[in-house]
Amino acid sequence: MPENLSNITYRIEIQGLVQGVGFRPFIYRIAIKNKLKGSVENRNDGVIVLLNSTEKQVKEFINEVYKHAPPASNIASVNVQETEKMEFNDFKIVISKSVSDSVTDISPDIAVCEECLKDMKSQNNRLDYPFINCTNCGPRFTIIKSLPYDREKTTMKKFAMCKKCNSEYTDVMDRRFHAQPVACAVCGPEYKLYLEGKEISDQRLILEKTVELLENKGIVAIKGLGGFFIACNAFCEDSVARLRNIKSREGKPFAVMCSDIIQAKQIAYINKAEEETLKSLKRPIVLLNDKAKLASSVNVGFDTVGVMLPYMPFHYLIFENSDLKVIVLTSGNISDEPIITDNAKAVEILGQFCDAVLTYNRDIYNRADDSVVNIVNDKERLIRRSRGYAPAPISLIVDAEGVLANGAELVNCFCIGKAKQAILSQHIGDLKNLETYEFYKETISKYKSLFRFSPNLMVTDLHPDYLSTRYAEEYNIPVIRVQHHHAHIASCMAEHGLDESVIGVAMDGTGLGSDGNIWGSEFLICNLKDYKRVSHFEYMPLPGGDMVTHEPWRMAVSYLYKTFGMSFLDYNLTFLKHIPGEKIRMLCKAIDENINSPLSSGAGRLFDAVSALTGLCINSSFHAEAPMRLESAIKSNVAEYYPFESGKAISFKPLINEIVKDLADNVDISIISARFHNAVIEAIIQTIDKISDDFNIKKVVLSGGSFQNRYILKNLEDKLSGKSYKVYSHEKIPTNDAGIALGQLLIGAATRL
Ligand code: ZN
Ligand code: ZN
Ligand code: FE
Repeated sequence: MPENLSNITYRIEIQGLVQGVGFRPFIYRIAIKNKLKGSVENRNDGVIVLLNSTEKQVKEFINEVYKHAPPASNIASVNVQETEKMEFNDFKIVISKSVSDSVTDISPDIAVCEECLKDMKSQNNRLDYPFINCTNCGPRFTIIKSLPYDREKTTMKKFAMCKKCNSEYTDVMDRRFHAQPVACAVCGPEYKLYLEGKEISDQRLILEKTVELLENKGIVAIKGLGGFFIACNAFCEDSVARLRNIKSREGKPFAVMCSDIIQAKQIAYINKAEEETLKSLKRPIVLLNDKAKLASSVNVGFDTVGVMLPYMPFHYLIFENSDLKVIVLTSGNISDEPIITDNAKAVEILGQFCDAVLTYNRDIYNRADDSVVNIVNDKERLIRRSRGYAPAPISLIVDAEGVLANGAELVNCFCIGKAKQAILSQHIGDLKNLETYEFYKETISKYKSLFRFSPNLMVTDLHPDYLSTRYAEEYNIPVIRVQHHHAHIASCMAEHGLDESVIGVAMDGTGLGSDGNIWGSEFLICNLKDYKRVSHFEYMPLPGGDMVTHEPWRMAVSYLYKTFGMSFLDYNLTFLKHIPGEKIRMLCKAIDENINSPLSSGAGRLFDAVSALTGLCINSSFHAEAPMRLESAIKSNVAEYYPFESGKAISFKPLINEIVKDLADNVDISIISARFHNAVIEAIIQTIDKISDDFNIKKVVLSGGSFQNRYILKNLEDKLSGKSYKVYSHEKIPTNDAGIALGQLLIGAATRL
């Protein structure tokens, strides 16, 4: 080749999730293969490659980068520029000195890769070895104690690498080059099974016993990547019902793990986008339409089932060595506590209820429950963001360094700002639970050291009694309080990089409003600094306050009373037969006299009311059961909708009136449910139309827990897009309160500027 053709130095800047995922050695291997000279280096802003080559070669090089990028990486952009000519003797990985302090990317955990699964059947020191991993797969976040990401700073520290592992670890041409958790049967972690008072250490016997138990109605606690899980055969009603008892969980569906995608298709309807997500290395639980093949206690009457595919080598071993096709795999906790991560605690607590407890001796440093998603309009929508997703950063349009957003209360995640990146914590849970609140505090302090983060501004919810708010006030730094629904909308704006006035539609359960009432169906004109509330659903009293969330029938009574006065007691409503008449009269009196009956515009409360009124969910056994049952009831292709009244606030009294008539006429509940959902959608669209006319804004941002409802989100997106609105909804973080901290963070950062 003529010298002048390769006489150019190209500077290639690769951005996205490219650090801590084996990107540099990957680049190195391509360069060596193509006999190219230059260097690769991690910088704050991404990976920088310098390459001496021809124009043709650099094009081919970039094609290859895209084509074979490490599975856990995610290339956002590649920028190529000619730069000052440099001389290189070979191709080098440059160890950056200045960078280590500011590079804070920590990769989420990654499901075991195909190549490792093959190695598991062929490498002598890793035959069926369940802790096999490589640069492309395995534990990350859950084992990292401190940065930079190095074996010494992970819970793998106590395992000294054997000669063989070490030679792979230090060979840049090897797939296990600098794979921090690299291990084999000679030197790595091992399982231990606690069964009938005995501790079994023989690895083969452990697998046999675990499989034997699961095949024979047994319930086994199994240590996962980010915590313990409880497993049983998902086809065995006896076991699943017993598990329900153990977890004291009446109504909430269990997630299941299928042996493979073919099996998953046997039990659920799966479209292309859903299949892609199921198979993604993040391996979340995907909510799918159920085919009703599993034991009925798995999803207790819902029409959806949460499905995931194996993500740890041991999961594969279970299915390979048994006739099991689908197992329940539910979080290893009792009721609402955080999942157990500690071996001793698992043996002590889960051991009391499970037939065996399977542990291993690599510690979990960062807890991470399974993530949960559903797919709407072919896009992934997170319901719980944890294993596989957290703590991947979200890029921001403003600098948020030092901002700590404390989140809400019931479904908490917090969020920290590092320069123009937001790091949303893994799923924390309900802070009202003492252990969860401890987990919250502990995780904030871990993030401070992990990400070298020192807060200089706290951002909290307006609600003074949220434990997250109280936590913020214990710090001696400035605190900004943000209205709940403004934060919801801002969290979605953050995802999409919006910084302008938008129409924000927050459909939600509960959030304190600036007028002292409870809000939750808010139409806002807002930007990152401010909001104006332009419409909402009519206020309704919540007789009994917080009790309504456990007893949706109270909401039905409230709506009926406000619609009909006391005369509704004479209607032949089935749900009323479940509640003593005296209790209902007292409730109405409490509403009249304003005793413990705060006003709420929460959309979730309207769903509660209709769910109870139709008899679908009179008392609720878990958070949001009533709206979920109502959504699950839609089975018909119904286009018509119930009437409502638009005014300063939107009133659904006409709708309640029609539902009562339909119930009297024995109209099918699935039709009532569809008409109800359609009415909510229509009311939202008409309100948006009016606001758009008044304010001349075409961008609509959707957020809030009610958009977990697939029917509402899908139809609303479709219809609004059809009317030439630009619609933004959540794709990277949850639409429920777990995502709110991101919005708080952005508002805090924008406001302090
Ligand atoms: Zn691998
Ligand atoms: Zn080894
Ligand atoms: Fe909320």
